[in-house]
Amino acid sequence: RSKTDGRGIARVFQEEMERSARERRQLELELHAAWRDRQLYLVYQPIFEATSGTLAGFEALARWKHPQRGNIPPDVFIPVAEETGLILPIGAWALMEACHTAAYWPSHLFVSVNLSAVQFRGTQAFHQVRAALDASGLSPDRLEIEITESTLLHEGPAVRATLDQFREEGITISLDDFGTGYSSLKYLQTLRIGRIKVDRSFVAEVEHSSETRAIVHAITSLAQALSLMCTAEGIETEAQRQIMLAEGCSHLQGFLLGRPGTAEDALRLALADVV
Ligand code: C2E
Ligand code: MG
Ligand code: MG
Ligand code: MG
Repeated sequence: RSKTDGRGIARVFQEEMERSARERRQLELELHAAWRDRQLYLVYQPIFEATSGTLAGFEALARWKHPQRGNIPPDVFIPVAEETGLILPIGAWALMEACHTAAYWPSHLFVSVNLSAVQFRGTQAFHQVRAALDASGLSPDRLEIEITESTLLHEGPAVRATLDQFREEGITISLDDFGTGYSSLKYLQTLRIGRIKVDRSFVAEVEHSSETRAIVHAITSLAQALSLMCTAEGIETEAQRQIMLAEGCSHLQGFLLGRPGTAEDALRLALADVV
């Protein structure tokens, strides 16, 4: 009996593996089609100065509107794009699009663009950024590049060289989802990171957990001691806003303050803010 059960379980497992591999392959094909058919677009989420509450800039975020399945979130399609190499053209397009959009905003506003580790292999990232700045005419000091700790961890010396080039151009390097990865604090200094973004998971708990509050306090104190800008991500409640402000974050981002919107929405907000 146990032999039969074992075989049965093995078969179910096998079928499950095959099904998920098939779905994965399907998603890859559909992402290729999406890229070809221009189903991808960018939305822009506002980022505000913490103390004054004035608009400081926007983060560009990729969206995929699938004709049948509706919106597929970037947490699903970006990893597929990374594995297939599609992230290279997609990443170049995102930089180009974001810089062109930001060039129409008042000149005190920045745009931040997320870059994948894959883009840092070779000299792709630098050339993509340079091309986007040249074509749009956007001043480099209005561009921020968001990377995660895992990018620093996995890509080694090539990343460092590219980040040095960015810094020389006057581009700000922003460390995204800070506190969730494994990178050394030493990176903040050696890579001359300009901004850290306190991960949304900390912000979500900061109201109710004294331990989380202590971690947030440590992160924001570090940012202040090193004169880094510090954005709190994922502000959803007034209490969170108050706490992150009190902890000394320089910038705030979250659904409470503004959801990601189209380029037209962003332009309207950018122009409305000019008094
Ligand atoms: P991220 O860079 O950390 O972006 C912040 C994410 O938090 C966005 O999710 C944003 O919509 C969401 N968010 C902002 N405020 C709130 C809030 O108050 N509450 C909640 N629940 N969520 C909030 P999104 O747009 O789904 O993007 C997810 C991730 O996908 C991004 O995380 C980023 O890692 C990646 N991603 C998005 N666009 C791109 C892109 O163009 N290139 C690359 N390489 N990655 C991208
Ligand atoms: Mg980001
Ligand atoms: Mg983040
Ligand atoms: Mg994230």
